[in-house]
Amino acid sequence: MQTQFSLTALADPEMAQSEKILRTCVHCGFCLATCPTYLLTANELDSPRGRIYLIKEMFEKNVSADPRTTYHIDRCLSCLSCMTTCPSSVDYMHLVDHARAFIEETASRSISQRFKRDILAFILPRPKIFRAVLRLAHFIMPFQAYLPKNIRSFLSPLPKKLPPPSLADRPQIIPAQGDRRMRVALLSGCAQTVIDTTINEATIRLLTRFGAEVIILEGVGCCGAVAHHLGKVEQSYQLARSNIKAWKHEIDTAGLDYIVVNASGCGTTIKDYKFLFREDPEMREGAAAVSERAVDISEVINKLDYKNTQEMPKLRVAYHSACSLQHGQKITHEPYDLIERAGFEAMAVPEGHICCGSAGTYNLLQPELSQQLLQRKLANINSLNPHIIAAGNFGCMMHIATQSQVPVMHLVELLDWASGGPKPQSLGF
Ligand code: SF4
Ligand code: SF4
Repeated sequence: MQTQFSLTALADPEMAQSEKILRTCVHCGFCLATCPTYLLTANELDSPRGRIYLIKEMFEKNVSADPRTTYHIDRCLSCLSCMTTCPSSVDYMHLVDHARAFIEETASRSISQRFKRDILAFILPRPKIFRAVLRLAHFIMPFQAYLPKNIRSFLSPLPKKLPPPSLADRPQIIPAQGDRRMRVALLSGCAQTVIDTTINEATIRLLTRFGAEVIILEGVGCCGAVAHHLGKVEQSYQLARSNIKAWKHEIDTAGLDYIVVNASGCGTTIKDYKFLFREDPEMREGAAAVSERAVDISEVINKLDYKNTQEMPKLRVAYHSACSLQHGQKITHEPYDLIERAGFEAMAVPEGHICCGSAGTYNLLQPELSQQLLQRKLANINSLNPHIIAAGNFGCMMHIATQSQVPVMHLVELLDWASGGPKPQSLGF
């Protein structure tokens, strides 16, 4: 694709990077067939190719983002399905990340839109505040029917009950059982520690059982993905910097083999720290060290030669492959192998490359498209008649569970159960 950027624009490294990406698109349109929003609307501007044209125009003008561009970029899930399909390896992820940051800085949004985006970026990365807000929201829930539609769409995905904070999420060192085979840091996360504490508890049992010493570090918190996908660059960098400093200090002092992430949305962002801080002389080295050690839990459990230790009931497990895992991190077969090795039947969901509509805060900010994608995902899952739905990303789990009759759980809960841990609470039978 030909571009016409001014020399002044190209002096900005972010702009120069985006211009380079734009030039790799040959506008063949192969990506349209696998783009969830294009499948729903059949509108070229809701497709990757259409969005690439809008971004090109916006960056070439290099003034403020217009309402049409803002509208169609906001409707993009950042699911990265287009990157898996693209034969020219167009780096859509970094292009749309830059576009979101540019829009956040220059577009004029309504007060209610700004308020929603600011409030999400403020609350979700802070577990204490998020817990307090959820407790408050529980008082309002019985009166949902009387509230405006846009407030109802915020309340409906929330869980009915909150667990107490888990001891597993406190800074600590949990020794390996038997001989230590590796030393890993675990990202506890932010929203996940408030809503579902069983995931980190199962992850720690699983890692230590197979010989990993697990460290939860002080100073590590939200990975910054929520703010990053809302285009709030400085906020996301602040969170990332704190994580990088804490992990880099541990790497330099006691050593870390891996940084384990059990929420694939966060994993994709942490693996990208190296790129995000490439121009930052102070953080560059630490960011690279962190990204090079970041692994999804399914990768590290494979390295630890996972096997089950008890006979499992013959349950059919529909595995929902999160977009951040399959398209963002290109991890595709490991979770299925692990489910089979645990003693269950692993089932691939038809149209598995299509997003469930969760996509970070997308389900809250774009409820209509998100619900259409959820219904499509549930129909595909239910066609398998599974006993269990498993996933590797907390956001997808929560979104699917809002309307699923089939129990939804994290992959680690199944692996933990089959190797000596407790039966997952959410199983319900
Ligand atoms: S498939 Fe790749 S090269 Fe073709 S239009 Fe889409 S992004 Fe551009
Ligand atoms: S990231 Fe997903 S929703 Fe966005 S353009 Fe690509 S395929 Fe479509």
